[in-house]
Amino acid sequence: MKRALITGITGQDGLYLAELLLSKGYRVFGLIRGQNNPKYELVERTVPAVTLLTGDLTDLSSLIRAFAVAQPDEVYNLGAISFVAYSWDNAHLTTDVTGKGVLNILEAARLYAGDNIESIRFYQASSSEMYGKVQQVPQSESTLLWPRSPYGVAKVFGHYMTINYRESYGMHASSGILFNHESPRRGPEFVTRKVSQAVARISLGLQDEIVMGNLDSKRDWGFAGDYVEAMWLMLQQDEADDYVVSTGETHSIHELLDVAFNEVGINEWRDLVKQDPRFLRPAEVDLLIGDSAKAKNRLGWTPKVGFHELISMMVKNDVAEQKALANL
Ligand code: GDP
Repeated sequence: MKRALITGITGQDGLYLAELLLSKGYRVFGLIRGQNNPKYELVERTVPAVTLLTGDLTDLSSLIRAFAVAQPDEVYNLGAISFVAYSWDNAHLTTDVTGKGVLNILEAARLYAGDNIESIRFYQASSSEMYGKVQQVPQSESTLLWPRSPYGVAKVFGHYMTINYRESYGMHASSGILFNHESPRRGPEFVTRKVSQAVARISLGLQDEIVMGNLDSKRDWGFAGDYVEAMWLMLQQDEADDYVVSTGETHSIHELLDVAFNEVGINEWRDLVKQDPRFLRPAEVDLLIGDSAKAKNRLGWTPKVGFHELISMMVKNDVAEQKALANL
């Protein structure tokens, strides 16, 4: 029975990955942060077979302890402060967790493996936010990185540190450059879930309008459930490497609103959407579109759920959830 340690177990990717690994017969350990973490119960309810260990990416000794208990064959570092807009207000904390946290967990892995470095395989959750002010369209593994937020800068540090451990110590350390990926489990601070929740509430008469930021930016949105398969596949290869994981399609926030409102039968939504500078960012990533040819050719990975299906799934889920919450 293989053993896996997942950081960021409370997020959408952590939950989907835990389900995938459990279905493959893994013993799964999840690192959970902080006293009285309100998400503890969510993880226990969703994936009760996962063993939760207390630890923090900023605390190396807690990671060393987690490795001693989990004795993992595979480590998936999904933990991060992941909301881009928040990272300007908390740049140091984002750097410590999302950036230096990667160094901490790589170091914990190296110390744990000792002379037997090939006994451990490591996955780093890199991000399309690293492309920022995009230098090439579409973006591939060799596109110059030009991050546009403290979050993106921290992710670049983690990305290169992962490559550095691979090259310096021969660690099987891979990095997945994942483009935006969403699901009904996505946090409501992200734009897809914000829209799916608001559209559901508007359709049920529970809310009048939705207040948004920049409607012109474009993202390459995929389904998180598909993307965790790519993570696992990377660690099953003979050689560690870096892979872009994306759909290769890009859509604007306008299109997102179109699809979401259409799902509940509203075709004319302009009057229902207000814009507020509060949701604009000091610097914006305008156009993300990924070239995942390498993942397709080497891993045999392709996304299954398309944009329309994804947004429809999220809106349907939120309609059901909001109905239940409002006792409708
Ligand atoms: P990100 O790509 O990791 O920053 O994911 P988000 O889902 O937070 O944002 C995606 C894009 O949607 C960005 O270009 C935002 O500027 C844009 N956007 C427009 N309005 C909103 C909003 O109200 N909330 C969020 N989160 N993003 C918005």
